[in-house]
Amino acid sequence: MVKVFIIGAGEGGKAVLGRLLQFDWFQIVGVADLNPEAPAIQLARDAQLPIFIEDPIPLLQTMTIDLVFDLTENPRISRQLVQISENNFDVATGEVAHVLWDVIRELEERENRLKQKLGENQILLDTSLVLSRSETPDEIFEAIVSGGMRITGMPAGSLSVYDKQKKQLFLVATKGLSSEFYKNAVYPVRTGGLTEHILANKDPLLIPDLADFPSFNNPVVLKEGIRSLIAIPLIAEKGPIGILYSDDFEPKQFPPTLTNSLKMLSTQAVIAIQKQQAFEKIKDLSIRDPLTGLYNRRYLNKVLASEIGRASRLKHPLSLSLFDIDNFKQVNDRYGHVTGDHVLKGLSECFESMLRPYDILSRFGGEEFLILMSETGKEEAIASAERLRKAVSGLSLLPDGERVTCSFGVCTLWDIKKTPTTPKTFIDCADKALYQAKHEGRNRVCLYTD
Ligand code: GH3
Ligand code: MG
Ligand code: MG
Repeated sequence: MVKVFIIGAGEGGKAVLGRLLQFDWFQIVGVADLNPEAPAIQLARDAQLPIFIEDPIPLLQTMTIDLVFDLTENPRISRQLVQISENNFDVATGEVAHVLWDVIRELEERENRLKQKLGENQILLDTSLVLSRSETPDEIFEAIVSGGMRITGMPAGSLSVYDKQKKQLFLVATKGLSSEFYKNAVYPVRTGGLTEHILANKDPLLIPDLADFPSFNNPVVLKEGIRSLIAIPLIAEKGPIGILYSDDFEPKQFPPTLTNSLKMLSTQAVIAIQKQQAFEKIKDLSIRDPLTGLYNRRYLNKVLASEIGRASRLKHPLSLSLFDIDNFKQVNDRYGHVTGDHVLKGLSECFESMLRPYDILSRFGGEEFLILMSETGKEEAIASAERLRKAVSGLSLLPDGERVTCSFGVCTLWDIKKTPTTPKTFIDCADKALYQAKHEGRNRVCLYTD
């Protein structure tokens, strides 16, 4: 600790003392002035420091002191100080004090910046650890939002993933925001809007106070009471993949180190999201048929088992529609396999476009399809199959305008005495109905009955 004595307790002395008190590496061993009401004397009294209302020169010779601040501007005092200081202590005048403060302030700011930077690095490290341990998309999205909130010191945040084809953002995670905020999970990217600007930009956008930013008028954000925000564009090599927001309900000042750390966070987030999306794609490949993009048989069987369980527990209706292209062998024989494939794709698109919310469509075999219809009873299932049958016979997918038709076998749970309990028995029943439809002349819908 540096032992300091202050002579001259006017405004200058008070300023010096005030500063010194902020640092615990100074020990104030005395404040001297002839005026007991001088400002620095009062301050020293409040801080319970030794006060001397007398000529300090004799005193200084008896004390252990490292540094004397002479703020008197009195030539006699400065002369005498020179005489007695010798090797005992250093003397600083008011001017020296000013220079000293500037140096201290600079050091302090550097220290703060370093602390801030170290804190930010720690958060980045933590976030990357959490991300590497996260498995589900939700865990990953949440870890990214939390990382953003921690590094910015803001109490709320959200993450939206960008769909390039649809030019839409999907809100995938929020924290610290009301349910109103995430009610609308999909929002389009308006041309010329702020979101488009954020996505086009590589750098984070920091808005300390939305009140100074009238072009930002997103009603959901304003209604939420958000006053300051940071929007970090998540840019992959191929282009933007999302935006990470951190929000505060008060105006906020951001430290200068932040932008760099945010860029590092965004890199982490991009890698994690891309890894997740690649993983999802692989998972998707394993449950989809490569030619038509429809679910495959394996997936359908799995879903069917759980749907039968659910429907049985709740006693809700459940229907299956199994259908097959009529005389498809002839199509291949006459037009070739490539055209045959074209027909399969065309039909799949047609079926898909006609699905209802609870329908799950799969390519069940070569030219066989299956629709699982939960919450659907007999009449509805027949009507649905009938709609598809008509739509198919209206398509022109073959070069010479020849039409393709399909036959349908429908089966509904609870509608028959021997209620099927396994996927296999359920499908067998639908298959029997399909066989009947073929037998009766094709291009028709038959319902399974006992
Ligand atoms: P039915 O009306 O009785 O169903 O007659 P069908 O000719 O459609 O029935 P069949 O089972 O005799 O023939 C099915 C044909 O479907 C034979 C097979 O080559 C064709 N097929 C199966 N999968 C594919 C595929 O991925 N692409 C093409 N082009 N043809 C396929
Ligand atoms: Mg067929
Ligand atoms: Mg067949």
